[in-house]
Amino acid sequence: MARHKTKPFIPAPTRRSCGKNRYNSEREAREVADQQELLFANQGLRLKVYHCSFCGGWHLTKQL
Ligand SMILES: [Zn+2]
Repeated sequence: MARHKTKPFIPAPTRRSCGKNRYNSEREAREVADQQELLFANQGLRLKVYHCSFCGGWHLTKQL
């Protein structure tokens, strides 16, 4: 049997994206992302929706 190495789970240091712009569902996040993309279309804003395992919510991140 392989030695079970217990890797301590170190929570990510407080991410800047956590706490703000947190959405409860992917759909909600996507809707906001679409609105933001429209608002900043002239800047070519593209947003990506991703699930955050840290806070359990959904966030938006700029897609470059
Ligand atoms: Zn989060």
